[in-house]
Amino acid sequence: MKDKLQEITKRAMEQIDAAEEMSALNDVRVAVLGKKGELTAVLKSMKDVKPEDRPAVGQLVNETRSAIEEKLAEAKERMEEAELDHRLKSEVIDVTLPAKKAKIGHLHPNTNVLQEVEDIFVGMGYEVVEGPEVEYDYYNFEALNIPANHPAKDEQDTFYINKDILLRTQTSPVQVRVMEKGKLPIRMIAPGRVFRSDEVDATHSPSFHQIEGMVIDKNITFADLKGTLQEFVKQLFGADTKVKFRPHHFPFTEPSAEMDVSCFKCGGKGCRFCKGEGWIEILGCGMVHPKVLKMSGIDPNEYQGFAFGLGLERITLLKYEIDDMRLLYENDDRFLKQF
Ligand SMILES: [Zn+2]
Repeated sequence: MKDKLQEITKRAMEQIDAAEEMSALNDVRVAVLGKKGELTAVLKSMKDVKPEDRPAVGQLVNETRSAIEEKLAEAKERMEEAELDHRLKSEVIDVTLPAKKAKIGHLHPNTNVLQEVEDIFVGMGYEVVEGPEVEYDYYNFEALNIPANHPAKDEQDTFYINKDILLRTQTSPVQVRVMEKGKLPIRMIAPGRVFRSDEVDATHSPSFHQIEGMVIDKNITFADLKGTLQEFVKQLFGADTKVKFRPHHFPFTEPSAEMDVSCFKCGGKGCRFCKGEGWIEILGCGMVHPKVLKMSGIDPNEYQGFAFGLGLERITLLKYEIDDMRLLYENDDRFLKQF
């Protein structure tokens, strides 16, 4: 029995020493100490040992078990250390390498231009007001003197949520909401996102931004409109910028005009940028229609006002000399980081 135990121990020790992987250690554990292991088999044969010898043999078996268990634990520790060592060596970090550059973003060209426009008008005493993008038909059309049969209300041009609610097609409804509050005088701009059922191309997008402006006060004339907008474009495009007003029609202003600025590339001589015209169309404007004032509860005999609206993207494209509006929305890092 003693020889048998020594033999088991010797073989187990050799196998453990030779083991190179955790799985080999486990094999030894199962083969020797497991339920069907050699040492277990020895314990089972104790019944054949003479009763007076049993304590001594039992002790011997226990000693063998402890010795093998201890050896297994040592081997396991050795392997874990070796593995850690290997990992530390293979994952070594060279602290002398140059650091990765932190990529810091910046404001979108649209946001830059919007902030510039806001700064100019805030400097002239205007308030920046925002309104809902999902708007009532009433505010978007009716209160702005756009009748039910107007082509702008066509389902081809407007995203309707239902009969009475839609995605606003312009920022003008914000003017109505401000007028309705009845606090006069008003000096405001309303920038924001608007929606039209347009196909995407170089100059169109179903979602874009407008900046709407409005002044309501006593004794406001077209001269105030001209002076204000002239000052605005001089600050935006340069002190030499000239303006030109062309008669136009908008339902909510009377009279109405479109305003051109002299080309800031060629100074008005005509170039590729202004398509040889010397002038660039920039915004629509006019004196607030008396009907619009009345509908919002303002007496047109006492108060007058002017309003204007411009496309933010149009200004951004002009200022940065970008020739395709889609570039502003594609979020292409290579494009955006130029600005
Ligand atoms: Zn030009």
